[in-house]
Amino acid sequence: MNYQTIFDTLASEMADVEDRGHVATYIEALSHVPPDRFGACLIDHQEAEYHLGDSNESFSIQSIAKVLSLTLAYRTAGESLWRRVGVEPSGNPFNSLVQLEYDGGIPRNPFINAGALVICDYLITEMPGVLDVILDLARRLSGNEQLVYSQEIAESERVSGFRNAALVNLMKAFGNIHNDVEAVLDFYFKLCSIKMTCRDLARTFLYLMNNGLQPGLNERIVTKSQSKRINAVMQTCGFYDEAGEFTFRVGLPGKSGVGGGILAVHPQHYGIAVWSPRLNAKGNSYKGMLFLEAFTTRTGLSVF
Ligand code: GLU
Repeated sequence: MNYQTIFDTLASEMADVEDRGHVATYIEALSHVPPDRFGACLIDHQEAEYHLGDSNESFSIQSIAKVLSLTLAYRTAGESLWRRVGVEPSGNPFNSLVQLEYDGGIPRNPFINAGALVICDYLITEMPGVLDVILDLARRLSGNEQLVYSQEIAESERVSGFRNAALVNLMKAFGNIHNDVEAVLDFYFKLCSIKMTCRDLARTFLYLMNNGLQPGLNERIVTKSQSKRINAVMQTCGFYDEAGEFTFRVGLPGKSGVGGGILAVHPQHYGIAVWSPRLNAKGNSYKGMLFLEAFTTRTGLSVF
């Protein structure tokens, strides 16, 4: 399959499509991102790379980092992880408190904020210096030694993080947070503030394309079964309360972030990352989703 030709064709077809999205502003630092950036990178099962536009410019990966924290927690805890967080789509906004109250402090899944906060709490307990552990893992997987988080964005998240603070406190009241609330929030904000390029993203998560084994490194990151399950959770829960729509239109497991990035994988075939900062009403990249929909339609390569 000549992915580069398809990339270039789609880029010219999409050039005139009006971007109806809006850059996230609830985290002040994200509102400064140039809104018209567009990048994509695909890495196939033979590790050939295909690039489009701003594929080598770094941006805040936000909730895509939750795939990394889930990976680290799952491979450490094994199946016992699911006692503290579920695997059901929430059907509610990513920062909703209502459902958490009804569910007794057990978040629906690891990708809504409450679930990611529980995962952060678990990792803090299990791993001293967990921020460095996760950054090291990200550097190794991406092959980018320069990879960092943005202190400016983390701080910006902190000053507007009232809902996240409420979620941790509510779960602490239910006994599902074991560490200091501030420590959990601090790690969570830094995790979400990790910056990557589309190329970094596509490469980092290749193990999910390859049954848990990272190509290039030839290192097992998670078991085959864990890889299947992380993909399953991405498929059902990776796009806020629009996971059904993403599955319907694109047909790949993936995860998005409010920085405008989307990471998706086609097991055995490729990993792909897209970045376009303007978001639709559900918080997913407007053009990113359009591009991926056109890509899987044109190539006929999706999991369905
Ligand atoms: N750090 C963001 C928040 O907690 C993550 C949002 C996202 O990308 O889903 O609000």
